[in-house]
Amino acid sequence: MLDSATNRPELPAEIARRRTFAIISHPDAGKTTLTEKFLLFGGAIQMAGQVRAKGEARRTRSDFMQMEKDRGISVSASAMSFDFKHFRYNLVDTPGHSDFSEDTYRTLTAVDAAVMVIDGAKGVESQTQKLFEVCRMRDLPILTFCNKMDRESRDTFDIIDEIQENLAIDVSPASWPIGVGPDFMGCYDMLNDRLELMDRADRNKVADSIEINGLGDPALAEHVPAHLLEKLIEDVEMARELLPALDPQSVLEGHMTPIWFGSAINSFGVKELMDGIGTYGPEPQIQRASPRAISPEEKKVSGFVFKVQANMDPKHRDRVAFVRLASGHFKRGMKLTHVRTKKPMAISNPVLFLASDRELAEEGWAGDIIGIPNHGQLRIGDTLTEGEALRVTGIPSFAPELLQGVRAGDPLKSKHLEKALMQFAEEGAAKVFKPTFGSGYIVGVVGALQFEVLASRIELEYGLPVRFDQSQFTSARWVLGEKKAVEAFAEANKLHIATDNDGDVVYLTRLQWDIDRVARDYPDVTLSATKEMM
Ligand code: GDP
Repeated sequence: MLDSATNRPELPAEIARRRTFAIISHPDAGKTTLTEKFLLFGGAIQMAGQVRAKGEARRTRSDFMQMEKDRGISVSASAMSFDFKHFRYNLVDTPGHSDFSEDTYRTLTAVDAAVMVIDGAKGVESQTQKLFEVCRMRDLPILTFCNKMDRESRDTFDIIDEIQENLAIDVSPASWPIGVGPDFMGCYDMLNDRLELMDRADRNKVADSIEINGLGDPALAEHVPAHLLEKLIEDVEMARELLPALDPQSVLEGHMTPIWFGSAINSFGVKELMDGIGTYGPEPQIQRASPRAISPEEKKVSGFVFKVQANMDPKHRDRVAFVRLASGHFKRGMKLTHVRTKKPMAISNPVLFLASDRELAEEGWAGDIIGIPNHGQLRIGDTLTEGEALRVTGIPSFAPELLQGVRAGDPLKSKHLEKALMQFAEEGAAKVFKPTFGSGYIVGVVGALQFEVLASRIELEYGLPVRFDQSQFTSARWVLGEKKAVEAFAEANKLHIATDNDGDVVYLTRLQWDIDRVARDYPDVTLSATKEMM
């Protein structure tokens, strides 16, 4: 067995055993099924089948919040913690909708590694590719799970080639499948020289593991039929010759991904993957921040908000802010400074998401995700510290690609509408712009479906029918520059100017030509398609 990968040997044991990761995949590849099995092996749930992320079934899970039941969005599924062997795993859910969104991007700012799940018959699909690119922007280590090997799947070398070529990353096989489709019987564990045999009869059963003394071991023939064995030996020898050996350092740097083969639904290959995340997935990493980076082993506690979810209960406008702890040992009741407002906040009811249930978090360590119920003070990108004015960086907001005007069905209700829109803007569900000219708001999203989702949420949560109208604008850019220059620019371009929910100046555009014109005529301001949340 190779040494486990570490680039942080100085971490205290409690932090060093944490693995905070997300799963990236194309819809249907098996993310939900794999999550269930993680929780099953992590002892967090008694029986798989309780975390279905789709449809009715999910409602059988904990119903601790009104929002979960009513909206069918599982808050606890946003972050799940479980133990396996001596590791503590924190799995952060990536939003399921197929539009690439900044939600997804921000989720990936809260993790130290990603597990990429692909379907053995389909290989690298579009959504996987997009999410992979985001991981690469952050140099996240990636571990790959090739799922559904119990079905007719592609040739193993082809799958590996495709990943190497499409994603430009070295792939090193951690296991090798034996047989395909109906013949699939398990894997040869290339890291430990073990045979893992799948039990098709019992889907929740952990595979038998048989120690093998290398490929020449006659014991192999007792378990693997001759025709499969011959191919296995040939394949593994060829793989060892042609494919790179697992290099933990290269995995940490995001240049190489180890790949495990398995079948999530048959609980097969999952344990090996979990071991792999423990061994090669890194411990909590240094967090980028301004004016200095934050190291997880620092004694003082700090963390940042990467996601906000609003409550459904109209009487209590409660939200849960999901905070990734960046350093220290957090204890319930601690007073932390909310850096943006410089106000102290007593964190008395933090929540830890132990898969089966939501529990009060008595403590947490760097790497953990805690939920902090609040009334809207905590926004995405906010930093909490024990007093130091640190601000976590790298949590951007992207310019929307679609804009529409929005009006309340009943004009007397526009104040209500404003409140609703501000809430969604703070949750990061949409961009909301108030044009300086005229009345009303312009809402910006990344995918068209989001307008429908917004309209139905505003109606459901605020009892407010709304109408979206075509806007003359198609895109928006933040205006950056010296305060004076920005003000002069805004004054000269009133018809195009709006402010976002933080009060920052935005330039609404119709055509690329508008943007080019500004670049030409106003050299002292810059139009930006992203904004750092702060
Ligand atoms: P998600 O959309 O990525 O969350 O995918 P799901 O976990 O919901 O799985 C999509 C479908 O594939 C479901 O019908 C699963 O039962 C099925 N599935 C998941 N894993 C496997 C597997 O290992 N083998 C087979 N044959 N089907 C699987």
